[in-house]
Amino acid sequence: MKKNFTSDSGYVRPKKSLGQHFLADDNIAQKIVNSLTVRHQVLEVGPGTGVLTKFLLGNVQQLKVIEIDRQSVAYLREHYASLGDNILEGDFLKTDLSTIFPGEYSIIGNFPYNISSQILFRVLEYRSQIPQVVGMIQKEVAERLAAPPGNKTYGIMTVLLGAFYEIEYLFTVNENVFVPPPRVKSAVIRLQRKEHFSLGVDEKKFFEVVKTAFNQRRKTLRNSLRGLWTGHLDAAEYDIFDKRPEQLNLQEFIELTRLLAKTV
Ligand code: SAH
Repeated sequence: MKKNFTSDSGYVRPKKSLGQHFLADDNIAQKIVNSLTVRHQVLEVGPGTGVLTKFLLGNVQQLKVIEIDRQSVAYLREHYASLGDNILEGDFLKTDLSTIFPGEYSIIGNFPYNISSQILFRVLEYRSQIPQVVGMIQKEVAERLAAPPGNKTYGIMTVLLGAFYEIEYLFTVNENVFVPPPRVKSAVIRLQRKEHFSLGVDEKKFFEVVKTAFNQRRKTLRNSLRGLWTGHLDAAEYDIFDKRPEQLNLQEFIELTRLLAKTV
């Protein structure tokens, strides 16, 4: 199956460098859009030729889309003219996300897989304005995000994103519904911000502890975190330091941060 999206402004040829795999199945597009439940103000990332956009229009109160590819932008301006200035041409990773909408907005997209982790890290950074995300990403990354402790794929992203969002693996999508088909399977995830949750420890310290621990994930915490305590801490007194990072759940990482903070 080979399909181009023709328009008067030419056609949008899928570009590998931009992670372009166009979804060619309306039922799945509809299902993705239906998964978004917070619909007041919505930003779509990487609309491409608008397969999700067409189901979003009219179903959300305020819609903006951001697309880096000029050809796709030209296509959208022509076929989705009603969006007008709400079609933003630009790089999501370089845009100041605090200025997209006044107040809170949800994010949706069939994300370019080469930058899906970076997209999610940006969500984390701007989480005070982002209550919900529905995104299609590589299945493998989705599994990692939803992995429980003890799992080999449990990692930095799982813990940091999981600290602030409930992560749901919604459904798997086969490669043959894309043009061109990606080499990997895809999955749709939903992130729902935790509204009544506070870490209870210094956030910067928590991020530092998680990142440092996973940077040397084969070592016990006693060894990998040695550089993080400044004052007296007899790690031998605490069993937690005998563990490796993938064995710790969120509460234990918080506990660990609390212990380390005591030493300064
Ligand atoms: N939503 C469309 C296209 C998905 S492919 C569909 O489902 O068919 C991913 C899209 O993200 C492409 O259109 C690509 O041009 C766009 N994109 C890639 N990098 C981007 C970035 N940094 N900022 C905004 N859009 C980007």
